[in-house]
Amino acid sequence: MPTSSISDILRQPKVGDTVTVKGWVRTFRSNRFIALNDGSCQGNLQAVVDFEAFPEALLKRVTTGASLSITGELVASQGAGQTVEIAVQKLEVLGDCPTDSYPLQPKRHSLEFLREIAHLRMRTNTFGAVMRVRHAAAFAVHQFFNDQGFFYLNTPIITASDAEGAGELFRVTTLPADGAPKKEDGTTDFSEDFFEKPTNLTVSGQLEGELGAMALGKIYTFGPTFRAENSNTTRHLSEFWMIEPEMAFFDLHDNMELAEAFCKHIIKYVLTNCQEDLAFLDQRLEQEEKSKPQDQRSGQGLIEKLQFVLDNPFVRCTYTEAIDILKDSKPNKKGQFKYPIEEWGADLQSEHERFLVEKHFKSPVILFDYPAKIKAFYMRLNEDGKTVRAMDVLFPGIGEIVGGSQREERYDVLVEKMQAVGIEPEHLEWYLDTRKFGTCVHSGFGLGFERMVQFVTGMGNIRDVIPFPRTPGNAEF
Ligand code: ATP
Ligand code: MN
Repeated sequence: MPTSSISDILRQPKVGDTVTVKGWVRTFRSNRFIALNDGSCQGNLQAVVDFEAFPEALLKRVTTGASLSITGELVASQGAGQTVEIAVQKLEVLGDCPTDSYPLQPKRHSLEFLREIAHLRMRTNTFGAVMRVRHAAAFAVHQFFNDQGFFYLNTPIITASDAEGAGELFRVTTLPADGAPKKEDGTTDFSEDFFEKPTNLTVSGQLEGELGAMALGKIYTFGPTFRAENSNTTRHLSEFWMIEPEMAFFDLHDNMELAEAFCKHIIKYVLTNCQEDLAFLDQRLEQEEKSKPQDQRSGQGLIEKLQFVLDNPFVRCTYTEAIDILKDSKPNKKGQFKYPIEEWGADLQSEHERFLVEKHFKSPVILFDYPAKIKAFYMRLNEDGKTVRAMDVLFPGIGEIVGGSQREERYDVLVEKMQAVGIEPEHLEWYLDTRKFGTCVHSGFGLGFERMVQFVTGMGNIRDVIPFPRTPGNAEF
C-alpha cells in the first residue's frame, strides 16, 4: 500500500479509508495514543492502539523519536484537538529510538540548546515550521520572477574578482597550507595555484548578473554568498543565500517598485500557503515576547505584522531627509545613539535605521540617494555630483533587508570612480565592456534570503532560519 502523507490526511480526511502512514513518534500516552509526525505539516496524526491486540514487547519500542509504519482505518475522532485519527491495524517499528540518549524530549528546549543539536532540531515543531516556511518563501521567489518574465541565472560561486568590496573574502586554493610556493619578493605565488591566480568564494553575483541583464533583459540569481566578516550579530551569517535581480532599462524608481512588489509577494505567498505553521510561530513569538520587559515588546503579533506590511506602501525617504530627521530626533539630542548624527555624509548604523523604521515612520522604509562616499563604485552618480542612486529597504526588527542601486552606465564616469577607489580598470575589463558595447540604464538589488525568512517567521536570530548556520568559529554539521 502506498504511504499517505499526514498533511494530506489532515487536510482532507477521508473517514473509512484504510491508509499506511510512516513517521516519527512525538508522544505515546496511556499505552494507547501515538502522536505521529511525518514532517509534511505541523500537525500530528493520532494513532489509536488497542494494546491488548499487540505484543507488549512491540509497544515498549514505541518511544519518542522512533520511526513507525502504521496501517489502519481513518475514523472520526472522539477526542478534542483532531477531527480524524487512525485505528491501528498493523504496527511496525522501523527504527528504534533509545529514550535515555535521545536529546529531544517532549518538553520545551531553548533555541540555544537546539542550535547545538542542529542535526536533530528540524524534528521540533519550531524548526519544522521554520523550514517549511523557508521552502515556501524560496518557491515564492522563483514564482514571482518567473511570472514577471525574469530568467534565473546562475553566477559563479568561485570568482577571481576581488574588486567589488562587498565584504571580506574566503580564499579558495589548492596550495598547501604549509609551504605555499613563494615569489622572489616572498609573497605567495598564485600562478602555481589551481586557477593560476587568487580566487575566492563569491560575496555577490551582481557584476556577472549585470552581464546577464545586458543580454537577457531581466535576470535574477538565487544562490549562496560568502562573507568572512567577523560580525557576530543576529543578522549576519558567513554563508547566506542572496537573491539578486538585475534589469536592463530600469531606473532607480523602477528598482524600488520592483523591490517593494517582490517583498510583498513573498509575504503574501507565505501568509496564504503556510497558515498552520504561521499560526504556530505567531504563538511561539507571543510566548517569547511575554518573557521580555514591556518596553522591548513589539506589541504586534507575527501575522498582524505581516498583514500590516502588505497593506501599507513602503515609505520612500532620501538619505538627506533621513539625516534631518535623525539630527532632530530625541535619541540624538539626548545622546542615546552610540554614533551621534552630526553631519550629512555619516554612514547610517543599525540603531539609526531602526529608529527611522520602528519609531519614526512605523513602516518599512526605502532610503535612497545616498552620499557617493559611503556606497560602492558601480552606483549611478546623480547630477549633484555627490549622491548616488542607491537604495536600501529597511524592515522593522530586521534593519536592512535589501540593498540596491541604479548602476553607473557611463563608461568614463565608471572608470573614474573605479580609479578613485583604487580598482584597476584592467581587472574588470569584462565588466566595463557592457558600458562599451550598447550600454543602457540598468538597475538591480540584493535581498538576503535569511533576513526575509527571519521576518516572516518572527525568529530573532538568523542562525535559526537556516538548517546549518556558518558563523565565525562555527562550521558544525
Ligand atoms: P549589512 O550592512 O547589514 O551588513 P550589507 O550592506 O553588507 O548589509 P549588501 O552587501 O548590500 O549588505 O548585501 C545585500 C543584502 O544581503 C543585505 O541587504 C542583507 O539582506 C543581506 N546580507 C548582507 N550581509 C549578510 C550576512 N552576513 N548574512 C546574511 N545576510 C546578509
Ligand atoms: Mn555587511
